[in-house]
Amino acid sequence: MTDNSNYKDASQISPPQWRGGVASYLRDVFNGVKSLLVGLRRTMYYFTHHKEIITEQYPDNRATLVFPERFKGEVVLIHDENNEHACTGCTACELACPNATIKIITKFDLTPEGKKKKALDKFVYHLELCTMCNLCIVACPTDAIKMAQTFEHSVYNRAHLTKILNKPGSKIREGVE
Ligand code: SF4
Ligand code: SF4
Repeated sequence: MTDNSNYKDASQISPPQWRGGVASYLRDVFNGVKSLLVGLRRTMYYFTHHKEIITEQYPDNRATLVFPERFKGEVVLIHDENNEHACTGCTACELACPNATIKIITKFDLTPEGKKKKALDKFVYHLELCTMCNLCIVACPTDAIKMAQTFEHSVYNRAHLTKILNKPGSKIREGVE
């Protein structure tokens, strides 16, 4: 049989002690409700004053996002409106990259004079490895690449972060050596 001799109901507790417990409990409830109302008042204020919302509304504001000038999101190969770029396939960017993020694959094109000339075949870029250090950009002698401010790079398959930066059908701009 259980011995309940150590347990007391409220009638057995001396009045000052009992009253103090109830008062403390009611004070906690009151403070909790007060705190809730303060929070709700702030929420309702912003609910009815849309123009005063100061927090970022991403992704709703994606189109109007402004990044600091120095923000770097990924390396891109610059193409003009004629689908031409300035990459000679010199591999300077690949050599400058500290962690093998870039792999330049070259081929030989024939010039109008029938001579072989080295050209870019594939600019392979491993975004998953890139630290955005900018060294490749600085190393490029023809300013063919730049850092873009893109940032939504999440993918389910890591392999999708390996990109070919030269667009299909693109070629080097005439006059770039
Ligand atoms: S930014 Fe740095 S890590 Fe990324 S590709 Fe260029 S050199 Fe490599
Ligand atoms: S991007 Fe620039 S540095 Fe890299 S291979 Fe092309 S021309 Fe050379």
